Amino acid sequence: MALIVGVALVAALGCGAPPDVAESPSPAGTDGPAGGAATSAWPRRSAVLFTRTEGFRHDSIAAAAPALTTELTEHGFAVTRTEDPGAFTAEGLAAVDVVVFLETTGDVLDPPQEAALQQFVEGGGGWAGVHSALDTEYDWPFYATLAGAHFLSHPAVQTATVRREDADHPAMAGVPDAWSRTDEWYDLRANPRPGVHVLATVDEASYEGGQLGDDHPIAWCHPVGDGSSFVTAMGHTAESWREPRFVDHVVAGIVSVTEPGHCG
Ligand SMILES: [Zn+2]
Repeated sequence: MALIVGVALVAALGCGAPPDVAESPSPAGTDGPAGGAATSAWPRRSAVLFTRTEGFRHDSIAAAAPALTTELTEHGFAVTRTEDPGAFTAEGLAAVDVVVFLETTGDVLDPPQEAALQQFVEGGGGWAGVHSALDTEYDWPFYATLAGAHFLSHPAVQTATVRREDADHPAMAGVPDAWSRTDEWYDLRANPRPGVHVLATVDEASYEGGQLGDDHPIAWCHPVGDGSSFVTAMGHTAESWREPRFVDHVVAGIVSVTEPGHCG
């Protein structure tokens, strides 16, 4: 059954129309690359929002996916949301610029699908992981490199202070040096700093129950082969996706991995 759905999706993406506009919202009302001229215009870039969950499922996916779709569309992206791992083939990813693991959990790809995603990123594609993307694919060695860290645990949702570390990165350009917000603050199995460029940390002195210590990265980026990775560990609550500043942080991070030269 899953295979049939996967084939149907690939077919839907591959036939008739340019593959990356198949599920695009109408460009009406935006000033896309065609100047609003026609629905047949090729968008500049294509994003896939992957929301499959094989473990815990966040209610906030229902708020996150439309928020990101709206904002990325305004940035000129064709956005496809899917929970179908059958999308992860060389053919399915050929016209894609960025894959977003949006609050995924658990083992979401089989080995051939993993190989397709690895080839996509190492060949120059963009990948972004949001919140429980860190609670995903524990047994796929490349994923540890791609994501930079894995989830360990979390205390209760509470307000904390995010400390901006790289004000020049697009994902951080719109936030203050000390950014107070409410979220579920992930602890990590290991500090990702040795392998990534840290964009922000969360100040464990500003909330209860943090376990990573004085240096607690909460957003980061790094090159992976010829491609790029961006991670924000924030985004647990539905309310996060109604915070314009937070949504802008995520969108800018997603856009950044489709353009060279932003990380570090
Ligand atoms: Zn969460």
